[in-house]
Amino acid sequence: MRLEPVIGLEIHVQLKTESKMFCSCPNCGDLEAPNVNICPTCTGQPGTLPNINARAVEMGMLISYALGGEVAGISKFDRKNYFYPDLPKGYQISQFDLPVSQHGKLSIRLNEGRDGEREFTVGITRLHLEEDAAKLLHVDGGDGKSSLVDFNRAGTPLAEIVTEPDLRSPEEAKAFLQELRLIMRYLDVSDADMEKGQLRCDANISLREVPEDPKNENWSTQLNPKTEIKNLNSFRSVERALEFEIKRQTKLWLDGQIPSILATRGWDDARGVTVEQRTKEESSDYRYFPEPDLPPMDLTDTRDRLSRTVPELPEARRRRFVEQYGLTLADARTFCDQPDLADYAERVFSELDAWAASVQSAGGQALTPERAAKLVSGWVLTKLNGVLSAHKLSLETMKAGPENMAELLTMIHNSQVTGTNALLILEEMVLSGADPSQVMEEKVLGQMENLDELREAAKQAIADNPKPVEDWCGGKTTAVQFLVGQVMKATRGKAPPEEARRILEEELSKL
Ligand SMILES: [Zn+2]
Repeated sequence: MRLEPVIGLEIHVQLKTESKMFCSCPNCGDLEAPNVNICPTCTGQPGTLPNINARAVEMGMLISYALGGEVAGISKFDRKNYFYPDLPKGYQISQFDLPVSQHGKLSIRLNEGRDGEREFTVGITRLHLEEDAAKLLHVDGGDGKSSLVDFNRAGTPLAEIVTEPDLRSPEEAKAFLQELRLIMRYLDVSDADMEKGQLRCDANISLREVPEDPKNENWSTQLNPKTEIKNLNSFRSVERALEFEIKRQTKLWLDGQIPSILATRGWDDARGVTVEQRTKEESSDYRYFPEPDLPPMDLTDTRDRLSRTVPELPEARRRRFVEQYGLTLADARTFCDQPDLADYAERVFSELDAWAASVQSAGGQALTPERAAKLVSGWVLTKLNGVLSAHKLSLETMKAGPENMAELLTMIHNSQVTGTNALLILEEMVLSGADPSQVMEEKVLGQMENLDELREAAKQAIADNPKPVEDWCGGKTTAVQFLVGQVMKATRGKAPPEEARRILEEELSKL
């Protein structure tokens, strides 16, 4: 028997609007002391009336467009009735039959080892808007039985995104969520940080038998009752919980106990297991009905305006980075996964264009696009990141502007500075914002123009190190590398290594 996992996700995204979904309280989540940003509306007092936050609706529409959804002309809010201590009204304002959008899809390119990749597409069933609940805090100490309610979160705008059961592995589910988080950041509608609860995910999973012969047409692709896994608050926990659930359900299948009812399980991250919770409500249990205090929304005009404002999305940007700048797909991916780093790189590339012209007119070796791509990936992606993490800085807090970075890269390209010293200059630029050529002059890091000095250092290295010299003379040509190192040390890194090697070999052959 061959079984395949059938996985769908339900994702809640907290939208970063100024105010809450249905009142004018500030939308700042957990940043404040408990119960500070509250009013009669978001605490569910009798007689209060909700007001729709237009910006939240626009954000929901933007996400819909980014996910290729069809945005509704008319959309409305409904009451979803259930009781829970964090829901003072006894119902949540959500959307039932006329959500903001339906029928979207998102394609993901999954990295499979070195340069390998596979694309899969996930259908987006719908996107609807709703309000977040309050937060219960279970207090330790005292009688150990108390819970407190913080209403700051109550009424935070949420976009709920429901996918089709199109995912076939925990790895796909994780990759999908990561891409979704990035899209939220590109759209600037949410920081989508899972650990802060800004992006929350429930995963639905069932197994089904697949035919040994894929051409078998009599096979049913019917779905089996699913298990919903709750309380997933990191990408890692989504992956682990699904892996666990596949193992657990496979065993049930093999034991002949195929899950026959919908079930809800919670993920226990510490123990690495899912734990049975209540059985899942069907939507009829919520007794949805249209929210009588809110008129249906006509989105037709907003739709026309907003569909033109969707910015470039991560996947389009990756493809452009490969085409326009000649970066490898892996480098393009690393850049585009960090939007601020990608912005910075684009500005460096554009500054480099100007420098390329000046290199050309000075008769230097042409700064080709291939060379520029190598310089930017080597220095912005690798070296700059290294310097930043060594000094616990970020792109925002460091001082090396793209213009100075481009100048440094041009100096490296023109062999005006060795790699070792360029790194020292970069560090100085990051810390003080200084101009690279100025740092080079002030700290005398320029490469030696005086070859006599270099030749002296080479002769000295030969005189001081008889063993490698003997090895070299005996035919072990790699021994020269040690001498190059000695020359670099003696010249405090100023010597161009290729030149040092050439002169050393010249001196050695005179012996
Ligand atoms: Zn309020």
